[in-house]
Amino acid sequence: MAYRWETSDSVWLEDDESGQFELASSQGLSRIEWQAQARTRLPDVAQLLGASLPAGCAHAAIYPEGFAYCPECGAALRVCAAAQRLPAWWGPSSAPLPVNEAPLPRHAPHGLPLTALPLAASLETRPPEPQVGQAELKIPAPPNAVCVFAAADFGFAAQRLLALAYTRNVLQYWDPAAMRWHVMTCEDHLADLSFSASAYAWLPAHAEARRGEVGLVPSGQGLVRLLINPVSESFHTEVVLSARLASAPGMVGRRIACLIAAAGGVRLWTADAQGADGETLEIAAELAGYAALTRPTVFSTEADVIPDPDADGAVPAGGWSRPLSYDGKLMWLHAQGHLVWRPGSAPQWLPWPAGWTPRLQFGGPARSRDGRLWQIGHDGQAYSFSELGVAQAQQRELDGARLGFGTLLFRRGHQVKNEPWDVEDVEDQTRNEALVLPLLENVSSTRSQPTGLVLRMERPPAMAEDALGGAVIQRTLIEWVGQRNVILDEAVRLSHPADCQPFVYDNCLWLHHPGWNEIRGWHLKALP
Ligand SMILES: [Zn+2]
Repeated sequence: MAYRWETSDSVWLEDDESGQFELASSQGLSRIEWQAQARTRLPDVAQLLGASLPAGCAHAAIYPEGFAYCPECGAALRVCAAAQRLPAWWGPSSAPLPVNEAPLPRHAPHGLPLTALPLAASLETRPPEPQVGQAELKIPAPPNAVCVFAAADFGFAAQRLLALAYTRNVLQYWDPAAMRWHVMTCEDHLADLSFSASAYAWLPAHAEARRGEVGLVPSGQGLVRLLINPVSESFHTEVVLSARLASAPGMVGRRIACLIAAAGGVRLWTADAQGADGETLEIAAELAGYAALTRPTVFSTEADVIPDPDADGAVPAGGWSRPLSYDGKLMWLHAQGHLVWRPGSAPQWLPWPAGWTPRLQFGGPARSRDGRLWQIGHDGQAYSFSELGVAQAQQRELDGARLGFGTLLFRRGHQVKNEPWDVEDVEDQTRNEALVLPLLENVSSTRSQPTGLVLRMERPPAMAEDALGGAVIQRTLIEWVGQRNVILDEAVRLSHPADCQPFVYDNCLWLHHPGWNEIRGWHLKALP
């Protein structure tokens, strides 16, 4: 015999002999595996639901939401209510964040590693360089270490961290009470969260999303909505678009879009923010004299046969960058060109200038003071910036490689502060030997100088391409660049530095590298 308790979100059963409570159902959650899963994680589950835990007695191991006293003896309980709502983290996403989540200003490109969270105010209170700091917190790296991170409450009472290993179809959940990662099981065996055709990006769930909804993610089935059940450590998906995806999805205005590999070639699919009202658009090829874009008129009816871009100049079916939303346009970059779409018009494929190859690994597009975006590349003689989004792109010659994106750019060890092609700002000659790779730009309305998190590689190979491409860097400083520079930590024998991923979770800045056993963290005080 069990008593039934109903709270605003959940139904609990109380065993009348043992006095123990069991969660029977909760809003938005699929099946509840109480005995098998949840019972072993009661501190985590209580925080997720905002339920109560025993404090002065042992009559039950968990109590329903809203219970302040033990019904058996009247002892006060520990009510697990979140002290403050923490800002969400989605990494570089082209979707705008809601007003209460520190959205980027309109003039900032969306889809680059930019954040408007007030990181500088806290990080710059530490002792400045040349003092070398240390990580203040460490948590184990997820078992499947090549992943993207999202931190949000997903409609629950507490913020949680997810690590999606998108090359392995593994969704990992950080249990902060147990200090360990759990692999979430898939409720429908057909779901396949792997996506490796292009760089990975997702679209966070909108503000009115259901409890447990994570967002729209690219997958083996196409574009799917991902929903988690953190009580049972499981997830399921709902297919929004069944197609072979050529790129990750992006968002511009109120439209979402992604590139799909259709039988006749690559198309752009777009829909409203909920995935309804979908349409598929042909891609207009810009015949700027750079590349022949006419294709043989032999079409295959087999879905798997995608025209080979190298052979005939067609739009590539993979290898795209994360989408970028800027100035009312959505943009994907590729080694062979870029694709630009403004809702209401035909998407345009713009090949790069003849003989010019982009250096996508250097970071991402840079923004000049007049608001235009530029991609760095090389014409065989020298580096240069090529203007993005227009057929007749302007070029800006450079005297050397610049690493970074947005307005956070470096030439070797020195910051480039005005225009992306300007001469670097040399404050310290001893830094000529170093190579700085920006990881995260901190956008702020009160700062005139670009600020953010960088890696300062000491004595790297002469070519930036080699330093980023697998060479082992003996010593790398993890550094905050701002009104004062702070060395947060150092790393030894680092390779593939661009694989470093910063994220903000639980009032801390974290830095993950797939080659590290631990994720390094630094406290952020007084985040809103
Ligand atoms: Zn009691």
